Amino acid sequence: MSRETGQGNQGFETTAIHGTEGESGDPWRALTPPLYMTSTYTFPEMEEVDRVLRGDREGYVYSRAGNPTVRSLERTVALLEGAALGCAFSSGMGAISAVLLSILKKGQSLVFSRHLYSGTRHFVESMLTPLGATVHFVDFREADWEIRLESCLDKNSGGLFLETPSNPTLDIVDLARVGSICRKKGVPLVVDNTFASPALQNPLRLGADIVIHSATKYLGGHGDLLGGVAVGSEERIRPLLSEDGPLLGATLSPMNAWLILRGIKTLALRMEAHSLRAISLSRQLSGHPKVERVFYPGLATHPGHGIARGQMKGMGGMLSLQLPSLALARKFMDGLRIVRIGVSLGDPASLVEHPASMSHRGWPQEARRSMGIEDGLVRMSVGLESLEDLQDDVEQALRSL
Ligand code: PLP
Repeated sequence: MSRETGQGNQGFETTAIHGTEGESGDPWRALTPPLYMTSTYTFPEMEEVDRVLRGDREGYVYSRAGNPTVRSLERTVALLEGAALGCAFSSGMGAISAVLLSILKKGQSLVFSRHLYSGTRHFVESMLTPLGATVHFVDFREADWEIRLESCLDKNSGGLFLETPSNPTLDIVDLARVGSICRKKGVPLVVDNTFASPALQNPLRLGADIVIHSATKYLGGHGDLLGGVAVGSEERIRPLLSEDGPLLGATLSPMNAWLILRGIKTLALRMEAHSLRAISLSRQLSGHPKVERVFYPGLATHPGHGIARGQMKGMGGMLSLQLPSLALARKFMDGLRIVRIGVSLGDPASLVEHPASMSHRGWPQEARRSMGIEDGLVRMSVGLESLEDLQDDVEQALRSL
């Protein structure tokens, strides 16, 4: 992992492990940051209340407005992404909804990439559109996406929101090119960096203004919690961190912040191991006669491979495979013995989900197709099991089709 991605002169792993050490003011100098599992804070006298509320002394009042363990997580993710400030939420959707509501002003429009996590798309269609927001979608697969993007972005645009790699089709967007268009137009660029994690990609360094993570996934890394984080400049994140804390109330539990901080210490190692397994499996799958298509940016045949190599330090643990039909996709999943059926991703255990039956079940087939999701598509979160066991499992499940 290169040294330029950590704090100051430090490497990424060093910052992930030691980034906010000593900042909590713990008198016992515990190696692991203390867990402040409290809803509120007390004061010896009213003068002290005034000092804290005036900002003359650092302090906490109420855990929705701030908590030392949650603060430590926000600082750590900000350092790893090269941001000034971070704000943690109780889930990735908590972060996404708060960020979108904070950038959208009355009468403005928002632009989204067509290939997006289903929950984000759902939020846009069921909450933002009814509020009167005009929404445009840009398909970054199209050859003339730049012309379409330029025509959508004007003085009325509140922001552009995208994912790269995207869920579940692993589409890659050229962040430097999009970032320069957004800068020229004066429109903030928001990137959901969940699939890559800060260990593999830092969109702020390529022109993004806000980066969002579902910490439920690789940051936590163990499938035992939900969380979300948004990071960016002081100007972009401060409105999310007003005196009352996350205004929409989607506050992260200190316990979950503590677990995510623990997960982050091994993030770089895990991402390397996920990536190694995913590239091997995607090669195995793409040579298999029963598989129609494999979506993995690490394959030279992926249309975004060149861009991904330029902007990512590894290709990550997510891949999708397309089988000839809905029935065969479901049979393949039923045939797996080690890989488990389940939504979510980024855990040590490998998981498969079938968008047509699970994450995108509510969408008509035509709508799914317009997002690039065929009925035979299966998404796999490649975990950390022994590679040979995963290879054997996939092979035996395909043989049964
Ligand atoms: N962004 C992406 C890319 C996701 O895959 C997900 C969940 O799967 C989310 C955001 C939402 O995160 P959460 O489930 O933590 O709300």
